[in-house]
Amino acid sequence: MNKQHIMPVKRTIIYVMSDKRSGSTLLENILSKSDETVSVGELALLKNHIFREGAGFRWDWNCSCGSPVKECVFWSKILEGMDLDSPTFNTKIRWNFKSNRTLAGSILTPVFKGTLQNIDKYKINADTIHTLYAIYRKIFDFTGKNFIIDSSKNPVQAYMLYRHKPADIDVKIIGLKRDLRAIAASKRKWNNLNNKDVNKSLGWLLRNSFLYNKICGQVLKLVNAGDKLLINYEQLATDTQPQLDKVVRKTGLQPYKAPQYMHVEDDDHTIAGTPQRFTKKPIKYDNSWEEAYNQKPVLSFVGKIMNKL
Ligand SMILES: [Zn+2]
Repeated sequence: MNKQHIMPVKRTIIYVMSDKRSGSTLLENILSKSDETVSVGELALLKNHIFREGAGFRWDWNCSCGSPVKECVFWSKILEGMDLDSPTFNTKIRWNFKSNRTLAGSILTPVFKGTLQNIDKYKINADTIHTLYAIYRKIFDFTGKNFIIDSSKNPVQAYMLYRHKPADIDVKIIGLKRDLRAIAASKRKWNNLNNKDVNKSLGWLLRNSFLYNKICGQVLKLVNAGDKLLINYEQLATDTQPQLDKVVRKTGLQPYKAPQYMHVEDDDHTIAGTPQRFTKKPIKYDNSWEEAYNQKPVLSFVGKIMNKL
């Protein structure tokens, strides 16, 4: 028996941080296969799903089990006794990616720190942190598990959770990187599917993905080395086990065998995430995004450079 079996495990939030379309649902699904974890999906979107507004239209804001969140066997228990109509019940940190300050901060660390200090002063964000930790505690108690996988992605939410973690709960941030050109192409496809922002060009989406990735990088700079990990989607999809082993070592999970399929189990109750996860599919690298750049060699070259910056 190894040492980890003897040491009591501290309750831990494993937070998946990334841009959209970067494989966060895949990583979340892989981590949900451990006996020690419970995966909640994108907890930041819980309030949207309760009130059926904002992102989530494509799956009618239902939990992954198919029930509306308020009627789901898991979430109805977790939310029991919480005042969902209170203005202090919030699950998403407020910040503005598109403000000039945030965009400047993506490159300039001191500016970013100032922006975070301002975001931290909003009462609504203090309420959100309070709500999120109340929910996490109920999930720990209800499930008896010591690890919660939260794939909210949002980097500022990651930072605020990390900064305000209570003494008895650990927060580990797993950053997920993907080729920016793939993210931009996938976002455009997704926008078209959702009939949203259909006029945004590939170049514009590439620029935004670059800046968003920079913000994720700024957040990681503010996290202690022992609490953060950066992995590549491409490696995760092609050679899953070594990447999973890295997460296991960083978080204190017991090692386990990586799944070969991405698949949502009947007893999973996750919020949001890509609907693709409902079809059981082998985990493999998808290069179909490359077609989007067939006629755009210059943009593809620029994107390649951006990946290295
Ligand atoms: Zn459910």
